[in-house]
Amino acid sequence: MELKNERYEASGIDLLEVANEFGLPVYIYDGNKILDQYNRLLNAFKPVNIKIKYACKALNNSAILKLLKNAGSGLDTVSINEVKLGLRAGFNPDDIIFTPNCVSIEEIQEAVKLGVHINIDNISILEQFGSLYGNSVPCCIRINPHILAGGNSKISTGHIDSKFGISVYQLRHVLRVVKSSNILVTGLHMHTGSDILDAGVFLQGAEILFDAAKDFPDLKFIDFGSGFKVAYKEGDITTDIEELASSIAQSFLDFCKDYGRDLELWFEPGKYLVSESGYFLVKVNVLKQTTATVFVGVDSGMNHLIRPMLYDSYHSIVNLSNPNGKQRIYTVVGYICETDTFGWDRRINEVHEGDVLCFKNAGAYGFTMSSNYNARFRPAEVLIYNGKAQLIRKRETFDDLVQNEVDVQW
Ligand SMILES: *Cc1c(COP(=O)(O)O)cnc(C)c1O
Repeated sequence: MELKNERYEASGIDLLEVANEFGLPVYIYDGNKILDQYNRLLNAFKPVNIKIKYACKALNNSAILKLLKNAGSGLDTVSINEVKLGLRAGFNPDDIIFTPNCVSIEEIQEAVKLGVHINIDNISILEQFGSLYGNSVPCCIRINPHILAGGNSKISTGHIDSKFGISVYQLRHVLRVVKSSNILVTGLHMHTGSDILDAGVFLQGAEILFDAAKDFPDLKFIDFGSGFKVAYKEGDITTDIEELASSIAQSFLDFCKDYGRDLELWFEPGKYLVSESGYFLVKVNVLKQTTATVFVGVDSGMNHLIRPMLYDSYHSIVNLSNPNGKQRIYTVVGYICETDTFGWDRRINEVHEGDVLCFKNAGAYGFTMSSNYNARFRPAEVLIYNGKAQLIRKRETFDDLVQNEVDVQW
């Protein structure tokens, strides 16, 4: 967002006006930013046959899915309902990959029926898949290369204690199962967790996958998952996509030459595509001075944006109502009856009750992780695109809270 004539705007749309029109709290997404990120990634990997599968658990509103579909993206899904959301938004099944973890074989069978790519991350499921389908349905195998990516163990999925993927050390076992049931493996996958900082980590994992690939003669793609880092606060080191891309592309092209065929290179970015597009706007209900700090209490909480409480993630907080006010130190908290602190000791332009605050980087894992805790409504979602702000999800109402309850007959 940019400050123009004392007003914050995104793609030329005044954010406070959006708040006035649709109410608070509200998630606002800038469609242009999403497309910019998508195109930047695509261009960076130009030398190779790259396919982007947007990881829709980050933000799965159908309007966002359609925006990315129209740009040419595929979809990475982790539940059968995400698969259905993707199909409903118009994605071709062939452009969707289903990468679940610890789901039942029945859920996988349902996805097979829907015609999407299946990514298997467990030897027991691989055996069952082989017995059911032999070589009649292709699959991808998720390998855990055991490289440590990112700093936070809650979002790092490639380490030794991780529940994700099949250990690269079990490759021999995998090959036995594949051979016994004549399974058609068309893809190899790794997703080592969020927030990868440098090309080195990717290349390490890549080499492991390339090495494993030699044993699978029918591959069509290698899927490197995600993990491109975006800036959450000023001064954050982010992935230099262009630099990362040129080294990965080169090693991929070398691999294809060795392998004897040109394969597709897949990526599954979530955060990278949508995080920075999102602004979560809330209203300041109260200021509360204690002996220790000044709390800013807003009309939201962990029910709407849980990332700060769940994994200590940092979201910049900006006072939209007082862009030039003198800066003071605040602790911003929610209205939920839990300790739901958005940020300690934040320097924010002087805050008054009634002001509108904006959490930045709220596009990924914001709304999709929201809940009705404390019987609160989930917020509305608005998309800025084509020069206007449009409602893409209504704010919930009291009826939404109780619609599935069943009256007890005493
Ligand atoms: C969550 C997830 C992603 C996306 O991760 P980001 O950090 O949002 O880019 C990609 N692939 C798989 C399999 C995932 O589970």
